[in-house]
Amino acid sequence: MAKVITIGEILVEIMAKHEGQEFTRPGEFLGPYPSGAPAIFIDQVARMGIDCGIIARVGEDDFGRLNIDRLHNDGVDTDHIYITPGYTTGTAFVTYYPNGERKFIFHFTHAAAGQLAPADIDENYIKAARYLHIMGCSLAASTSLRQAIGKAIKVARANGVIVSFDPNLRPELLSHEGIRGVYNDILSSANIILTGKKELVALTGEEETDAAVAYLQAKGMEMIIIKEGSLGARLYHQGDCYQVPPVRVQEVDPTGAGDCFDGAFIACLAEGADFREALAIANIAGALSVTRKGPMEGAAFKKDILALRHR
Ligand code: ATP
Ligand code: MG
Repeated sequence: MAKVITIGEILVEIMAKHEGQEFTRPGEFLGPYPSGAPAIFIDQVARMGIDCGIIARVGEDDFGRLNIDRLHNDGVDTDHIYITPGYTTGTAFVTYYPNGERKFIFHFTHAAAGQLAPADIDENYIKAARYLHIMGCSLAASTSLRQAIGKAIKVARANGVIVSFDPNLRPELLSHEGIRGVYNDILSSANIILTGKKELVALTGEEETDAAVAYLQAKGMEMIIIKEGSLGARLYHQGDCYQVPPVRVQEVDPTGAGDCFDGAFIACLAEGADFREALAIANIAGALSVTRKGPMEGAAFKKDILALRHR
């Protein structure tokens, strides 16, 4: 039985080969790489050795096969990944700039990923889980995916399944109408939030971290984790703040760091670890993820993460 479940988009990512390469001119690209924030998250959970699954849709094509094979081989339950005739698997094109910024072109609203609907949510599957993780980028994908996520959260809450949420706000995805209302609903029902600092300000309207944390705690958020890239991460729980310094690594590709961090963190909790240990392990998983090119390629295996734990 899956202890950790996520729901959302499965994509392939196609990466511009050269820094500063623009999408407005022909250029060379690398890929397809398995991707989609929920897919990266769940792959990391599986690589931590935890039973887990994803509810998603892919097309009847090799991009879908590539993802299913990868997730299955890593131990993710792929029985709730549905093949969608008439649609192709979603795609994301990404290009990097010398200052570290990234630009994406997403195609998932009108791809298989965006076709997931409330009827695809198997209530018993969610009821049997311990954790349900939601990625904010999935909320922008389509109305039906948003509704499917809403249903999953409702089932989770009614059955004592812990809900974790990563807002994963990307400017390209924010133009969708009504997204703020959905975010507010989730902020009120999630137990754990894992976020970046900029996203925290955007979500709460509070510039100061302490005020933003207080805002979320007033909504009932039990754990607030702030991911700070190459600066490490911190966790707020009740009145306390716990910080972890960054693990020193050579950054090759930042995409997926946050998702791997989330996956390792929730996997540790699902295994019964203390949240401080989960924070330390997630910090290592995030660091390792940036050392490999490709969004899901940096998801590390438990033994490699543990090897860095007490060094
Ligand atoms: P994204 O959504 O773009 O994947 P994010 O903003 O959710 O990213 P980051 O803060 O970029 O997440 O990374 C998550 C965590 O991974 C950080 O909090 C840190 O623990 C680790 N990490 C990321 N980049 C580095 C780095 N260059 N060196 C060391 N650790 C890193
Ligand atoms: Mg993120």
